[in-house]
Amino acid sequence: MGRRFGVRQLYMFTVGWEELPKSWSVYGTDSSERLVEPVPMVLLETVDGWFLLDTGFNKVLIENRELYRRFHSRFHMIKPILPKYNEDPLIDAINKVGLGAKDISGVAISHLHNDHSGGIRHFAGGTPIFIQKQELEFGLGDQVKCESDGYARVDYDDPSVNWIQLEGDGRVAPGVEAIFTPGHTPGHMSFVVHFDGEESSGLVFAFDAGDLHENFDDEVAIGGFIDVEPRQTVEQIVKLKQISKSYNYQLIPGHDPTVWPGANENLMRKVH
Ligand SMILES: [Zn+2]
Repeated sequence: MGRRFGVRQLYMFTVGWEELPKSWSVYGTDSSERLVEPVPMVLLETVDGWFLLDTGFNKVLIENRELYRRFHSRFHMIKPILPKYNEDPLIDAINKVGLGAKDISGVAISHLHNDHSGGIRHFAGGTPIFIQKQELEFGLGDQVKCESDGYARVDYDDPSVNWIQLEGDGRVAPGVEAIFTPGHTPGHMSFVVHFDGEESSGLVFAFDAGDLHENFDDEVAIGGFIDVEPRQTVEQIVKLKQISKSYNYQLIPGHDPTVWPGANENLMRKVH
């Protein structure tokens, strides 16, 4: 059983970090314990071209003092950290593989928090951007609620974005499946990546359905969620574990400082 149309190459990037209370990732932990977690981005090549999963921070909202105060300093005690870059963290990252924004055929966004949607602006004007319908509706809804929960509407409220709205599980690209995992946000999604080749191999990217390996190892609730009870976030954790087990693929948590390759360096890691 070959997977002739699977993902040919995959790169995991760390496009920033955030220093935050561990209680944001693991419900009920002592909020005085702080972690530095990597901000993930995945680049992969399919038969239909190069795709990105998530886009990191918008550097402008961090570097401009007034915008920082509005979007990053008021809530949650999360301190964003940018890598050193020449042009832009996202653009620098894909440049390392010899690509520019125009070479990206499609983008999928796990959810619209500011550490995942900050690079959408590079792909406005036609590039298909996959999102769950519920996530986009939430993000374009009550602005006070969204902004107080870490959404920066300027990152994604752009009429020229070519949104492809999914409703539940679906397909993003050849070899890339979307798995609907609401809880962290109302329309969060995770991804299953199937690699090209004869052997069955691939990865499951949880993104913020579970930040840390202990969320999955111990099946403990995440600390950041919208409109659900903490225990409901464990349902998504269990669902992703079942999927990774059924394929025998490694499950990659969203922001784990030890599991995310190159998490402590501004590095890419080629995985396939
Ligand atoms: Zn998030």
